[in-house]
Amino acid sequence: MDIHEYQAKEILSRFGVAVPAGALAYSPEQAAYRARELGGERWVVKAQVHAGGRGKAGGVKVCDSDAEVQDAAEEMFGRKLVTHQTGPEGKGIYRVYVEAAVPIASEIYLGFVLDRSSQRVMIVASAEGGMEIEEISAERPESIVRATVEPAVGLQEFQCREIAFKLGIAPGMVQQMVRTLQGCFRAFTELDATMVEINPLIITGDDRIMALDGKMTFDDNALFRHPQIAELRDKSQEDPRESRAADRGLSYVGLDGSIGCIVNGAGLAMATMDTIKLAGGEPANFLDIGGGASPERVAKAFRLVLSDKNVQAILVNIFAGINRCDWVAEGVVQALREVQVDVPVVVRLAGTNVEEGQKILAESGLPLIRATTLMEAAERSVEAWQSEQAQNTQVRTN
Ligand code: ADP
Ligand code: MG
Repeated sequence: MDIHEYQAKEILSRFGVAVPAGALAYSPEQAAYRARELGGERWVVKAQVHAGGRGKAGGVKVCDSDAEVQDAAEEMFGRKLVTHQTGPEGKGIYRVYVEAAVPIASEIYLGFVLDRSSQRVMIVASAEGGMEIEEISAERPESIVRATVEPAVGLQEFQCREIAFKLGIAPGMVQQMVRTLQGCFRAFTELDATMVEINPLIITGDDRIMALDGKMTFDDNALFRHPQIAELRDKSQEDPRESRAADRGLSYVGLDGSIGCIVNGAGLAMATMDTIKLAGGEPANFLDIGGGASPERVAKAFRLVLSDKNVQAILVNIFAGINRCDWVAEGVVQALREVQVDVPVVVRLAGTNVEEGQKILAESGLPLIRATTLMEAAERSVEAWQSEQAQNTQVRTN
């Protein structure tokens, strides 16, 4: 789960990371009021969307009066901000953050990520801040400083000092850098984050180190033990298909293809998507309905997959290990009686009680396309999708 910049800054500041003074606004008038409340002479109005690259897309505006703050906010509210991270549809701006403008002497990139190959938290930093990390690694790879944290002992002070030295931080500011790094690390581990990114972390004209931007991503599977974090979820920033799935306890990722997938198990779902591609099709989604594929869950899955208007065929691929194929087949049959499905459905069952399962499908009288192997299932769904597509174009030309 992602959160907004202002929320990340609030969290990080609780862990000792310095941030500029700022306040949130839900309307242009409130933005102007917030600027007056904050005081000072210069403010930055920042669109709160779950994406970076706002600066280049008009989502960050420096203002010299409260009237300018109001105008800048007026420009942003209700608009969709399109940055290189949002995709062409953009993300709606419903909140803006008004922040004191800070004089920047230099910008640093700082990221904490989970490095799955070393199974450790990795710190990535570069004195070439302001640019995206992808650009830095393409253009100035030698500027990137990396360090991994030994989980048994946590982030050590000497490691922080080493990072500070490699970034060329002046000796008088090293202690501030150590505090910043340790604050981020504590926030990362204590709150079960999977990413903390500060870009830029700046050194101000008066020698202070501050987070000017902040991004945090949390492990969805750990949100149950952080209710205060779970509360920060903003559905207006999510793919509506994915938030509907999350509300129903299904793990779903929307994609651009036309073949909807209903699969149990994440690994099998990945393999199913790969096989569809191999057979010449494009999956419309990743969907793991979990181990216990009850009729209710299968029905929910059908509804969810069908809510994507691009879906022209559905592939149900279930491997019953602990589960039983006959039970899953009952589920599919019940679900199809309950949910109106106007696209061809291919079902492949394997594992425990597969014969009984096939029998239930065959005797249901439903127009299901059955397949035995995964390859066959993928090929059948690609054929079904192609003939559906041909039919649709025919309907349109008639
Ligand atoms: P994004 O990464 O989405 O473009 P940032 O928060 O990083 O958004 O802001 C973009 C740029 O705007 C920063 O690199 C910085 O130069 C400037 N900026 C952002 N906040 C402030 C601020 N409070 N004071 C001065 N400049 C700022
Ligand atoms: Mg940034």
